[in-house]
Amino acid sequence: MNDFPARAVVDLAAVRGNVRTLAAHAPTAQVMAVVKADAYGHGLVPSALAALEGGAAWLGTAQVGEALHLRRAGVTGARILTWLYAPGAPLREAVEADVDLSVASRWALDDVVAAARQAGLTARVHLKVDTGLGRNGLVPEQLPDVLAAALAAEAEGLVRVVGVWSHLAFADAPDHPVVARQAAVFADAVAVVEAAGARLEVRHLANSAATLTSPALHWDLVRPGIAVYGLTPVPQLGGPERFGLVPAMTFEAQLATVKRVPAGSGVSYGHEYVVPQDTVLGVVPLGYADGIPRHASGTADRWGGPVQVGGRRLGIAGRVCMDQVVLDLGPGATEVAGDRVVLWGDGSDGVPTAQDWADVAGTISYELVARLGARVPRTYVDSERGEAGAGQDATAATAAVTGGVR
Ligand SMILES: *Cc1c(COP(=O)(O)O)cnc(C)c1O
Repeated sequence: MNDFPARAVVDLAAVRGNVRTLAAHAPTAQVMAVVKADAYGHGLVPSALAALEGGAAWLGTAQVGEALHLRRAGVTGARILTWLYAPGAPLREAVEADVDLSVASRWALDDVVAAARQAGLTARVHLKVDTGLGRNGLVPEQLPDVLAAALAAEAEGLVRVVGVWSHLAFADAPDHPVVARQAAVFADAVAVVEAAGARLEVRHLANSAATLTSPALHWDLVRPGIAVYGLTPVPQLGGPERFGLVPAMTFEAQLATVKRVPAGSGVSYGHEYVVPQDTVLGVVPLGYADGIPRHASGTADRWGGPVQVGGRRLGIAGRVCMDQVVLDLGPGATEVAGDRVVLWGDGSDGVPTAQDWADVAGTISYELVARLGARVPRTYVDSERGEAGAGQDATAATAAVTGGVR
């Protein structure tokens, strides 16, 4: 393995296949693979390249720097939209890098126009409408003013209004009345923009959940994130396999220490787990610094976050520490230091999933993969094409964008 005794192995064939599957769920729309936050922890550049190979025409990033990094890494054959920035963001660089920009407030439009003027180019703009999420975006009352200013800048050749878009608050509950209300507000906003003379290329509203469950919301472009990585945004409806999705990430480690201890031994800080019998403990060299949620600690009555070791399903015994967790391997354990422990993977053959961890820790699978620690190496395999995959170059590129050390 690596100098670090654990790794996240990302199967690029799964990313490719998931995008193909999502495109099939939304046959009338283009697909934007959302690769923000280091592709939900999976590694920005290799994940983006795999998503494009799977048929995504667009990439979506939250931060401008993520979009610029994709361009610098040679990702030129796709549209990229970026949507979250504050005054002073490198918008001129974004325009020069042919990145589409979301506009969610008046100052943002003014900054984009100024950036386009400096660059001597036309900026492509997507007007973001807050249809009810109550987050980023123009509330409908702000739209006419910003739209008029945008179309004036369009007449000067400084911007082109190519998109109107919004984001849902309850996409994971497709029947919730707020979904229908947002859909109606969105349709109104699109009508306002088109009536004012904008020639829109893409109108887009659907995240993963809406892509998978609400065809009426697909419009021209869908923006799945979590589903690209094979995790489901609607676990209450079943696992990812229900939608033909395959989790791309396997998070695994090597046992660092294996030792026998007598009944009654306390395990980890605070002795919240005490072994009920003579047993064998195994130390896994991963902790909350690596993204293991402390809320997945085990207690006296309940094991914590699930792992698979030696074909058995066990759970964390005692508290999650910064760098390590402990397993009660049982009295008959035959494991030795160096043996493989899988924390989460694709769910086949009893392997736990990130969703299983989310259930234990009281969170969502998104948070687990996105918060995987920077020191955990990402490595890439391609289950269709053999192990060569994107390999070291991709890992180095990912390190560069995050400023990380991997
Ligand atoms: C993160 C994000 C998405 C993707 O959401 P998923 O639930 O991961 O599919 C889409 N659109 C916007 C604006 C986002 O911030």
